[in-house]
Amino acid sequence: MRRMTQTPPDLPLRALFDAQRAASRAEIEPPLALRRDRLRRVRELIDAHGAVLADAVQADFGVRSPRLTEVADLFVLRAAIGQLHRELPGWMKSRRVATPFYLLPARAHIRRQPLGVVGVIAPWNYPVQLALGPAAAALAAGNRVMLKPSELTPHTSALLASLVHQTFAADEFCVVQGGPDVARSFASLPFDHLFFTGSTAVGRQVAEAAARNLTPTTLELGGKSPCVIDASCDMADAALKIAHGKLLNAGQTCIAPDYVLLPRGREADFQRAYEAAVGRLFPTLPGHADYASILTDRHHARLQDLLAEARAQGARVHTLGSPGVGGHDRQMAPVLVFGMPANGRLMQEEIFGPILPVLPYDTLDAAIAHIHAQPRPLALYWFGRDTAARNQVLSRTVSGGVTVNDTLMHVAHDNLPFGGVGESGWGSYHGEAGFLRFTLQKPVLVQSRWAMGSVFYPPYGQRFARVMGLLKRWL
Ligand code: NAD
Repeated sequence: MRRMTQTPPDLPLRALFDAQRAASRAEIEPPLALRRDRLRRVRELIDAHGAVLADAVQADFGVRSPRLTEVADLFVLRAAIGQLHRELPGWMKSRRVATPFYLLPARAHIRRQPLGVVGVIAPWNYPVQLALGPAAAALAAGNRVMLKPSELTPHTSALLASLVHQTFAADEFCVVQGGPDVARSFASLPFDHLFFTGSTAVGRQVAEAAARNLTPTTLELGGKSPCVIDASCDMADAALKIAHGKLLNAGQTCIAPDYVLLPRGREADFQRAYEAAVGRLFPTLPGHADYASILTDRHHARLQDLLAEARAQGARVHTLGSPGVGGHDRQMAPVLVFGMPANGRLMQEEIFGPILPVLPYDTLDAAIAHIHAQPRPLALYWFGRDTAARNQVLSRTVSGGVTVNDTLMHVAHDNLPFGGVGESGWGSYHGEAGFLRFTLQKPVLVQSRWAMGSVFYPPYGQRFARVMGLLKRWL
């Protein structure tokens, strides 16, 4: 394998970028075998070091079960890499397209080409999956990749950097570590594509920085994803699935249910069912080893402030769980909030923690109006058996994705594009959508020597007028 003489940390950011750019221009279309070899190296990296990566994530969080990392980071990655490896030969192929009669007998196709150098900026909440997932898709599409993982997971980011640099040449795939200053410089590089996963506020800054270079971006952002409970739902089942989606990683999941809309009068039913669901998932809480802690004291304090404000605004805060032995200071008990005023911060900001506001609605129209009053969400969940009501919600709302009668699961389906809309982001990835995200679909027309194009050439005389007259009738 060709390697650069200097190790990445010795090279300034710009030099790393220039090396990747030069390498991408020297080999515009890497062959299938090389792309598969790069995927194989990412797969081997997580297979050989999955356990230490999970330990690093645990060290960063305080409590973050290695089994959660196994399912939510490593399993998801393996599935994605497996699909990329399998489908790559078909996805790389040029597509023939039909030619309109007025251009016959020319032929046309769409050539799928790598973009060049892709920058990936990753968040902390699933720090392995959200770093290596986009990177693997970009490598499969034949690109060079520079990755900037989060500074808030320093153990994981340092380990990722060291493993990637042992496995890849720096002009092939490299990791740049650092905080917001480095991130800002990173986002100002003239990438061929910049893929950002993180908050809406930082996404806005990334889009601005990229616009200065006319670098196209994908923004995978956050938001307030609603759960709509229909009167026809099985409450115990809905509550279990909502509790799973909300409490996975203690609510620190971009597509976690942010709040619940349910028919007025069903609040007590939901509280009972949610309480039972939490007891089933985490029999002791806080203190359960499978229940993640909040990442930092700052994030924990923000969640406590949100609750204090909610109480001060007259909301009823109901704390769940039966404390176990030990536990971590930042393992925060799940909370239901009833009677939350619409202008409170809890209803304005993405919660990103185990707090679940429950809002009653009188009519389906009112529930839909509530969703429309907010920015377009990353995900929407609907629970019930009444398909007419379900179709009403699906056809009258816009969200990045939907799971019906469960939470989160659309993200795990690799034939579904995953992404946001409006303030929850733009552009999508996963499966072929991910491959195409990092691919130029280059149109190619191959002219025939028998082409009739000259009938359109000037000077525009009688013959031109006759042809235009005929075309007007045929088109
Ligand atoms: P964040 O926006 O604070 O940080 C994300 C990354 O951006 C980090 O690597 C950080 O160093 C970098 N960064 C910081 N300032 C920057 C700047 N000015 N320019 C460029 N990069 C900069 O997000 P976070 O706190 O790490 O993650 C939580 C957020 O991410 C939540 O809002 C969550 O919903 C969202 N998220 C979205 C998805 C998705 O797929 N849509 C997935 C996970 C998390």
